[in-house]
Amino acid sequence: MKTLQILIGGVWEDSRSDALLDVVNPATEEVVARTPAGSEDDVDRAVAAAVRAQPAWAALSVAERVARISAWADVIAEHADELAELECREMGKPVGLGRTFIEGAVAGLKASAAEAQAYGFEETVAQGDGGTTRILRRPLGATAVITPWNFPVPMVLGALGPLLAAGNTVVVKPSERSPLSTVRLFELLNLPPGAANLVLGDARAGAPLAEHEQIQLVHFTGSVDSGRKVGAATGRLLHRSVLELGGKDPVVVDADVDPKATAAAVAFGAFINTGQICTSMERIYVHQDIADAFVEALVEAAGTYALGDGHDEGVMMGPLVDEGQRETVRRHVADAVARGATIRAGGVEPDGKGYFYPATVLTGVDESMLVMTEETFGPLAPVVVVASFEEGLERAAGSRFGLGATVYTDDPGHMDASARIPAGVVWVNQWQGGGPERLYEPAGDSGMGATGASAAYDAATRPVSVHIAARPAS
Ligand code: NAD
Repeated sequence: MKTLQILIGGVWEDSRSDALLDVVNPATEEVVARTPAGSEDDVDRAVAAAVRAQPAWAALSVAERVARISAWADVIAEHADELAELECREMGKPVGLGRTFIEGAVAGLKASAAEAQAYGFEETVAQGDGGTTRILRRPLGATAVITPWNFPVPMVLGALGPLLAAGNTVVVKPSERSPLSTVRLFELLNLPPGAANLVLGDARAGAPLAEHEQIQLVHFTGSVDSGRKVGAATGRLLHRSVLELGGKDPVVVDADVDPKATAAAVAFGAFINTGQICTSMERIYVHQDIADAFVEALVEAAGTYALGDGHDEGVMMGPLVDEGQRETVRRHVADAVARGATIRAGGVEPDGKGYFYPATVLTGVDESMLVMTEETFGPLAPVVVVASFEEGLERAAGSRFGLGATVYTDDPGHMDASARIPAGVVWVNQWQGGGPERLYEPAGDSGMGATGASAAYDAATRPVSVHIAARPAS
């Protein structure tokens, strides 16, 4: 059985961790590899390598750094099939779906690194008193990227572009549940030694990394609980963190949309990646005028999400990542049913191996139920019928989370009103729309730190002002 290695200063080596964890294929429950559980010693050595490599990496011109990152992105693109297969093995995502997201993430890595060419790393502003001020945006130094398992490759690539292109070096720690594809990403790495380093493990590697006094910024993506710990650690050190955490995204369906087409779009938003997306649609508010037709079409759409091993042709939904995740889904369904909800589709697990759970539609739900208040991270579509668009909007806004929100409407006034939902991104008539220029910061418990486009460079750099006064008159 393969035991994974870590990459420090360009050299692959064994971890000094004293424990190993199983990496399990969730479709078959087979152990496919072993990963180190994590060690402070590994983290110290990786951070030291990142600190040592940083001045030389920052000394390269912006164009050179961008060209190096872009060359790595090209190599990754050539291996998209292989990386998608590894993701399927470690966390169950259908191979075709994984490949699509990896290709998007490679394009995103290139685009976000290329933004560096337009970013104002150095500006001179006149002071009006005969003096000038040079504003320099300096890299922070060594930084950390800690990622979850739901999109293993895209989560790593999504964070790296601006950090590296701004002249920082990085230590990456992927999820202990899905390290295979990230290890392969690093085998393909062609940046200077130490520019990007890899450690492995669970909180035994993540916590010492977040708490390391030489790590100037932690870009963390994961659960609210772990994010709070990371935020507390960086706060103590007066270091930065960008926290991209969990969600309970609402969708509001207005009376004037086509119920069938909208139900198909909502099924996609609720079930794709087996509902394991931070911005999955987890609360559905539908106007009473089209509720019956919408629910009927949603039930029909749920039946088309073929469940199975993501290696097999035609499979649209793989398993949940592990038994713990499946137990959360079961608990939310049981709680909803006990409080009066009805299962309209799904709800029955297939026999046999694998952590499978079918696409499930619930009606008769309300905000007294866990399924409407806690993140499920599974293939559930709980539907609430509302008397008006206003009521839908109000109830959509009533969550402690604030990652994303989606509204389907044909009414321009309602489109404008959608912006009232407190969220980092509000999508109108297209879930996940918007290009690389968008800026956002999660609201509420969903995290902190603005990101996207230039905000990612603002986070990855520290502004320094050098004020040059007019010479004193002689
Ligand atoms: P998790 O918090 O359990 O783990 C995330 C990462 O943090 C892993 O690498 C883990 O090893 C590490 N970690 C755990 N404890 C730590 C600690 N004390 N200090 C430092 N690192 C620690 O989350 P998960 O179960 O892997 O991922 C699912 C969660 O991620 C969901 O809540 C989901 O909504 C969220 N998520 C958010 C976004 C976003 O962009 N907002 C994207 C994807 C996933």
